[in-house]
Amino acid sequence: MFKTLDDFDLSGKTALVRADLNVPMRDGTVSDATRIERLRPTVDALIGAGAKVVLLSHFGRPKGKRVADMSLAPVAKAVEAVLGRPVTFAEECVGDAAKAAIDAAPMDGIVVLENLRFHAEEEGNDPDFAKALATLGDVYVNDAFSAAHRAHASTHAIAQCLPALAGRNMQAELEALDAALGEPRRPVAAVVGGAKVSTKLDVLNHLVDKVDLLIIGGGMANTFLHAMGKDVGKSLCEKDLADTARQILARADAAGCRIGLPSDVTVAAEFAAGAPSDSVPLDAVQADKMILDIGPQTAEALSAELESCRTLIWNGPMGAFEIPPFDAGTVALAKKAAALTQAGSLTSVAGGGDTVAALAAAGVSEQFTYVSTAGGAFLEWMEGRELPGVAALSA
Ligand code: ADP
Ligand code: MG
Repeated sequence: MFKTLDDFDLSGKTALVRADLNVPMRDGTVSDATRIERLRPTVDALIGAGAKVVLLSHFGRPKGKRVADMSLAPVAKAVEAVLGRPVTFAEECVGDAAKAAIDAAPMDGIVVLENLRFHAEEEGNDPDFAKALATLGDVYVNDAFSAAHRAHASTHAIAQCLPALAGRNMQAELEALDAALGEPRRPVAAVVGGAKVSTKLDVLNHLVDKVDLLIIGGGMANTFLHAMGKDVGKSLCEKDLADTARQILARADAAGCRIGLPSDVTVAAEFAAGAPSDSVPLDAVQADKMILDIGPQTAEALSAELESCRTLIWNGPMGAFEIPPFDAGTVALAKKAAALTQAGSLTSVAGGGDTVAALAAAGVSEQFTYVSTAGGAFLEWMEGRELPGVAALSA
């Protein structure tokens, strides 16, 4: 178990908060401030408890050198605007300049330290660099789940130097993930989609041991269908993974995990806007067509399956959702999951870059129990890996 902001007397303390300020920029300004906005609960709680807030983050990949383009200075301005508190920017993340900036900042203000990755020691998980960071504060707060799959000085080594707490985002993420795969309400369904089996082998292998129903959609379903002897035409299909797919199916069988695959599919001759498309039974995919989505009967049948499930974990769209109508299967299943969540019968947790975009496009992000924007860390967690940044909080 990990400690939270509620488990420590923060009054008069300086809190070093590992944030994820690696925000998208366009023309020198922040183009999407979601990650900054999400820091508000942690910042408010800390300042409310009488602590001084110092934000630590990486930004881009400067590879251990000072790169002007990758300064956090413009991001610090955005932090001030978005969170509505005075921000002091320190041009160094360690040493006298950092210390002076922290000392000079008002108690209800925020200090943003320069990009940690200007020092190679950050990605090297260097204990001396971690100590140098730790001397700047009294307590360490990790609020960057999205960086927790990396053992870096600011996510791992520093937790050995100071009392270590989970920030509000980290806490929410860990609680949601635990509700989905830790001690979930059963039955548990997983929806796994996306383009390729090869990128999600570890996810599939981990899930068959954990869930009661594994729904496989998207391009990766084609590989499974091919492995089961179906003709998938010119669909995206990793034929060299047929044996692997059969092994996963056998493993699911042995573990008592049911598999949900499409029984009908939406096909087209090309993946393009306005291309004529058709929904056909699985046995009727013509040689010159590609499968671009699950079919309407499959969407219906899978939606019905979700009704008897209590927990859903979702990564990967059911079809090539970027171009309609190939978003239909993903949207239908997403709306069903959202409705069941709102009705209280389903705990729904989703993550993955394209999945988050697909759920947002379906207009259901707010109706899921939790949508993780963590990307790589979310996937590693779905693979059953221990994340170093999380492990460091629990030590
Ligand atoms: P995430 O980013 O959520 O982990 P992925 O990157 O694994 O998801 O998968 C998303 C991609 O999968 C999208 O670009 C989508 O177009 C593609 N995809 C889904 N279904 C198909 C399909 N049937 N054929 C080709 N590509 C597909
Ligand atoms: Mg993706």
